[in-house]
Amino acid sequence: MSETIPHVLILGGGFGGLSAANEIRKNLSASQVRITVIDKRNWFMVGFAKLWIIKGTRNFENSTALLNGLEKKDIDFVNEEILQIDLKNKNITTSTNEFSYDFLIIAMGAVLAPQKIPGLTENGLNLYDYKQSEEIHEKIKNLKSGIIAISIMGMPYKCPPAPFEASLIIDSMLRETNTRESVQIHFYSPAPITLPAAGPEVSKKILDLISSEKIVFHDSCKIKTVEPNKLIFENSEADFDLLLAVPPHVAPDVIYESGLAEKNNFIPINRDCKTPHENVYAIGDVTSLKVTDKLAVPKAGVFAEGEGIAVAKNIISKIQSKEDSALFDGKGGCFIESGRDTASLIEVDMFSGPNPKTNLTESTAEHLEEKLQFEKDRLSKWL
Ligand SMILES: Cc1cc2nc3c(=O)[nH]c(=O)nc-3n(C[C@H](O)[C@H](O)[C@H](O)COP(=O)(O)OP(=O)(O)OC[C@H]3O[C@@H](n4cnc5c(N)ncnc54)[C@H](O)[C@@H]3O)c2cc1C
Repeated sequence: MSETIPHVLILGGGFGGLSAANEIRKNLSASQVRITVIDKRNWFMVGFAKLWIIKGTRNFENSTALLNGLEKKDIDFVNEEILQIDLKNKNITTSTNEFSYDFLIIAMGAVLAPQKIPGLTENGLNLYDYKQSEEIHEKIKNLKSGIIAISIMGMPYKCPPAPFEASLIIDSMLRETNTRESVQIHFYSPAPITLPAAGPEVSKKILDLISSEKIVFHDSCKIKTVEPNKLIFENSEADFDLLLAVPPHVAPDVIYESGLAEKNNFIPINRDCKTPHENVYAIGDVTSLKVTDKLAVPKAGVFAEGEGIAVAKNIISKIQSKEDSALFDGKGGCFIESGRDTASLIEVDMFSGPNPKTNLTESTAEHLEEKLQFEKDRLSKWL
């Protein structure tokens, strides 16, 4: 190792990066390991808070925590953009600095790429972009009649249940403004069922849940282009007055430039989250971890967190000259708000057998409480 105290450099201060940084620091003191997190943002927000901003119960300020909160745990935070990852020379270049490392964790997430769909930016809003959440709120509140289209425009995308949850939250907003009867909600997905990663049974329950609120699900709709008030799919067309899109996701450009992933794909990993480069790991949405030939671990905060913990354990073992055998367990849960002050929980075990095991619980007020607590726990233990 290059210095007396080993240096763990973490690229990205989102779910995965924060989980890994905290797990390492919890187990090793500042005299045993130096930890640096680099992020171009200076804040962290749990993904689902965007839906609360759309709902109008939150704003950006009261949904974020500052990443310099890491400093009180002796974790250095550098607020800069990562411009180059040079794995051969173990060197990371940011806007004004260069960093070396003994261990590197790449946790840079997925990037939204609306520009890949012609006409989308001009004619629709991005359901996943926090900068557009307040505008979406205003548009829904002011819509007196017409059609809201929610369209998934690429797979894989972050948190597969989130757009369904968004449709239920929007349904509840329209009920509050007494416009639900005059506004239709149509949901378009390129997949044949609502949640392919959760399997047919859970998918049917999600379909029943949204259908019970008169949200119309259209499967196998592969988007080609967007025109003013019109979605053009490969085999059909659909009208809308307000379009809320989940755009295609890609990895950050520096990942492609470093050779870690092929264009439009993500960094391939196994359950140990190792890359082919010694002491270089990748976790979270920037990766692709296959479960079966056709299925990968979904892009979700809980999984990025679990991968961060597995990598942290292995780095701790290496620093302590022990065997590094921890694997990501593939277990996680995701809450789906019903829009009626309750939530259900999708429990997933990705590696329980030949196919993932999934379960969707009843919608209860307790699960909604647990969802709020999920956010509180992360913010208080990480920052
Ligand atoms: C609406 C919505 C609802 C969601 N709900 C849930 C949920 O209920 N449960 C759940 O588990 N997950 C949920 N998610 C998904 C979850 O937010 C993501 O899967 C999770 O954030 C992924 O963690 P990550 O660490 O891989 O990436 P991120 O959390 O995206 O972190 C990546 C970080 O890298 C930084 N970065 C990227 N490129 C650079 C660069 N060049 N230079 C410097 N910094 C860079 C980014 O600024 C970012 O902070 C939701 C997502 C959305 C959009």
